Amino acid sequence: MRTETDFMGNEMTFDCMGCDITSGKLAIPGGIIYQGTSAILAADPEVPIPGFLVINARRHVRSLSELDDAERHEVIDIAVAAEKALKTLGVSEVTLVQEERSSHLHIWIFPNYDWMTQQFGKGVSYLRDIMQYAEEHADDATRQEVLSAIEKVRAYFEEHGING
Ligand SMILES: [Zn+2]
Repeated sequence: MRTETDFMGNEMTFDCMGCDITSGKLAIPGGIIYQGTSAILAADPEVPIPGFLVINARRHVRSLSELDDAERHEVIDIAVAAEKALKTLGVSEVTLVQEERSSHLHIWIFPNYDWMTQQFGKGVSYLRDIMQYAEEHADDATRQEVLSAIEKVRAYFEEHGING
């Protein structure tokens, strides 16, 4: 069991975060945005950045290459829809990250905002710095913005008939 704190200040206790979120055992801020057959979309529970989304595979696998065709297609379809949703929120560019060092397959969909570029620069090398900064500087207004972004992405999926 591991314990972390989500961005609303609630304790999260889990064996595998990916398994426990997808099964609904672990509640996260804003809840699951999209329930797919083989993957789900949610906001990152720990980092308060509006529109920072995560695709989690339902199966506990490490790598994209372990997914079958239908699973792979769904993961990419969710990524495409999430990117389009973020573009409607004024995000001009996203960065996708998938690390096999994590035992449960998840893909970060990281939104780029002007303040990040101005303070840190662009690209994968700055993600950890930006995330740390966001965690250290989040206030109530930021947390509300994150929850509001989650609702907007959820509404985008609903409006476009993307249902799991
Ligand atoms: Zn897992």
